[in-house]
Amino acid sequence: SNSFRSDDWQYNAVGLLHEEMRRAGSLILMCADKHQVPAGGALAVDREGFSEAVTATLMAHPLVSVVREEVTSLMDTPWTNIVCATGPLTSEALSKVVLELGGEGHLSFFDAIAPIVHYDSIDMSKAWKQSRYDKEGPGGDAAAYINCPMDREQYEAFIDALLNGPKAEFKDWEHVPYFDGCLPIEVMAERGRETLRYGPMKPVESPKLLDRQLRLKAAMPVKSIRFAGQITGVEGYVESAAIGLLAGRFAAAEAKGTALPAPPETTALGALINHITVGHLDGGAFQPMNINYGLLPPMEAPKADEAGVKIPLKERGRAKKRLMSLRALNDLNSWLEPQKTMIPAE
Ligand SMILES: Cc1cc2nc3c(=O)[nH]c(=O)nc-3n(C[C@H](O)[C@H](O)[C@H](O)COP(=O)(O)OP(=O)(O)OC[C@H]3O[C@@H](n4cnc5c(N)ncnc54)[C@H](O)[C@@H]3O)c2cc1C
Repeated sequence: SNSFRSDDWQYNAVGLLHEEMRRAGSLILMCADKHQVPAGGALAVDREGFSEAVTATLMAHPLVSVVREEVTSLMDTPWTNIVCATGPLTSEALSKVVLELGGEGHLSFFDAIAPIVHYDSIDMSKAWKQSRYDKEGPGGDAAAYINCPMDREQYEAFIDALLNGPKAEFKDWEHVPYFDGCLPIEVMAERGRETLRYGPMKPVESPKLLDRQLRLKAAMPVKSIRFAGQITGVEGYVESAAIGLLAGRFAAAEAKGTALPAPPETTALGALINHITVGHLDGGAFQPMNINYGLLPPMEAPKADEAGVKIPLKERGRAKKRLMSLRALNDLNSWLEPQKTMIPAE
């Protein structure tokens, strides 16, 4: 859809990631803020305005040349400082190149297409508008989603229709490695009639190909081929753009003859890099991830607030999230500060 998910930096990890990206000068967040539409507690964008603003900024930048064509090679090119952000549907020719370079079989993940429900097919005498947790978002609307209730019989009929309906056939080479956080609805239904009510949980494999600078280890030291976006094993618009922002900053620092360290792992940006480059090497199976507080180093839940007032037990988890967010922004500022003299802001 058009959602960047929660914009609450104090209590939600993706909201924190938004705030870190804003502070790091993210073009994507800047354009999203300019073109937001009401979406409860989420940051959602007017797709047309948002994408036009991103394109216009890039086209107008004196150091950016836009060439619209398929890239089929990485090593046999004159480029030495590359960022590859070709997404979950990287073209076949380039996929082969990347797989040959990396020497491992599973690099990208197929993203599910969001089911589309036609508005005029919804009976609004039965459905109602309400946002999750009634949260009012930056656009000032606490009722941005349409809720369609189902009783048991209707749910069973819905599952039957999903299972029996026509489905897209995959080509042989696709060997579809689903990302379990964003499965096609019919695949979820195939995993069990109750799955859609509870959500699925199963591990997939990881590339294990990148260093902390997001560079393909196999291409070093001949050239720096960085990866960014969903191809690295993050999921969602925001995480994809966050890794793009970091890959861009790393590549820019390298072009200027300096080395930029990865952001501290106490930040949402650092936790994401950690997850895709280090986190999965400790023996566990790799799962592409949305940002979440579990990726950041843990903190003790506070027993009292800043004013010394005791926090009730059931509110301490929430208070801990706020502390982790404050620590993240503080550490991010320390990471950004020296860069002000290293790399121009835009
Ligand atoms: C229907 C749908 C709805 C979604 N809704 C949401 C949502 O609401 N919120 C959210 O957070 N996420 C959502 N997602 C997920 C989100 O779209 C992805 O996580 C994100 O777009 C990945 O960004 P990316 O830049 O890595 O890749 P992409 O956006 O896929 O961009 C990669 C680009 O590279 C191009 N490319 C591929 N191969 C080559 C080549 N060889 N040479 C040159 N160019 C090439 C592709 O054509 C593409 O334009 C949704 C996904 C789908 C499919």
